[in-house]
Amino acid sequence: MRAHEAGALHGNDAAPTWLPYPADVNHLIPGLWSQTCRRDADGAVEVGGVSVTRLAEEVGTPAFVLDEDDFRARARRFRDAAAEAFRAHAGGEVYYAGKSFLCTEVARWVDEDGLGLDVCTGGELAVALRAGFPPARTALHGNNKSDAEIRRALEVGVGRIVVDSLGEIDQVERIAAALGTTAPVMLRITTGVEAHTHEFIATAHEDQKFGLSLSAGDAFEAIRRTLEATHLELVGLHSHIGSQIFDVGGFEVAARRVIDLVARVREELGHTITQLDLGGGFGVMYNTQHTPSTPEALMDGIAGIVEKQCHEAELPVPHVSFEPGRAIAGPSTQTLYTVGTVKDVRLGGPHHRVYVSVDGGMSDNIRTALYDADYSCLLSNRVSGERPEVVRVVGKHCESGDIVVKDEYLPADVEAGDLVSVPVTGAYCYALASNYNHVPRPPVVAVKDGAWRTLLRRETEEDLLGLDQG
Ligand SMILES: *Cc1c(COP(=O)(O)O)cnc(C)c1O
Repeated sequence: MRAHEAGALHGNDAAPTWLPYPADVNHLIPGLWSQTCRRDADGAVEVGGVSVTRLAEEVGTPAFVLDEDDFRARARRFRDAAAEAFRAHAGGEVYYAGKSFLCTEVARWVDEDGLGLDVCTGGELAVALRAGFPPARTALHGNNKSDAEIRRALEVGVGRIVVDSLGEIDQVERIAAALGTTAPVMLRITTGVEAHTHEFIATAHEDQKFGLSLSAGDAFEAIRRTLEATHLELVGLHSHIGSQIFDVGGFEVAARRVIDLVARVREELGHTITQLDLGGGFGVMYNTQHTPSTPEALMDGIAGIVEKQCHEAELPVPHVSFEPGRAIAGPSTQTLYTVGTVKDVRLGGPHHRVYVSVDGGMSDNIRTALYDADYSCLLSNRVSGERPEVVRVVGKHCESGDIVVKDEYLPADVEAGDLVSVPVTGAYCYALASNYNHVPRPPVVAVKDGAWRTLLRRETEEDLLGLDQG
């Protein structure tokens, strides 16, 4: 238990030190809310021109509310920043990482906005195909692809299969040969650089399931085998260093290691690799602790690194692609909940904690429980003149770890029936949603220009019972 700056004055010292005491508890903190969010004349939060009170009435809660203009603006901004940063060379391109959030309409936006699409299972590929997403701009990832997944990808003509192991080289070769085709292959290299929790670590070796180890020699061996294979075409090398990354330091080390490998391949195998994919992982602002870089700063920074290292190795600057997911989808969406129980729990002595229960929880946002993520929230159906009070927003599941927002200030008069919005839930929330406790998954609605429409409908009791053959 840590004391906070306002101390006992506020009757609740449960706030972590990083959480600032709000000057105005009704304020929409810039960077936390999607671009069309504002307070309307009644004080309710409005997004895409639709107030959350109207959404709660017409859609119900909980609901994921996706700001279409925000999503698409971010996608296009990454696309343009990558193209611009590598314009002087062989070009730069962006693939949206569909695993962060994917449905057919989002795949169509990504297509219309001129990005590629990353999928990592047959299921994600099926969504892309149903949406009519061009397979040539689709990449298939995965560390354990089935024959069926590889076959489907080759049959529809995906632009690249990102091969993750030596065994998979033989697997893709065998399937491509059987289909009488050539498989376009990128090789995922594990560089020993791993980004997590605002820092990156660079080790000489690897202890994780993804990719072909650089240090163990698997990466070089994979390149050699791919070049020798009759039904594989080596498109390039791939490196993804992690997620929620805020600066380009990790990319510097990873890019150097990959470019050194490109140089060695040219020297020893006489082959020049012309494409690199440096993955995704760009960070977003979940709370005031996070200060993400702009897409332009990230792309320019990485371009500078790649240029310098290619120059030193006397290599041409390759075509470079990126795979942001979170940084496009995350900030576009807020989850809208209705407050139920509000409970003031004595913690001993003067300490207490206010638990605000909402009508969803770990089934629609597992990230707090799974990754210890720190989300923020706001009373969104009205403004309040009450003092701010630290609360913990929890769900309705039978589990004490069912926490949505660990610590945030809400007005002290928050009560049953109020709406609470949790921002930046567009990535890895719906994608990781479950039916734990037989809770139906919430809908995802897109808002734009004063109207809403359903992208994914709310699950029903019929859906929940639909698999039950008893
Ligand atoms: C998860 C993942 C991404 C996307 O990561 P974000 O943090 O959402 O940007 C991109 N590429 C690969 C290979 C991944 O595994």
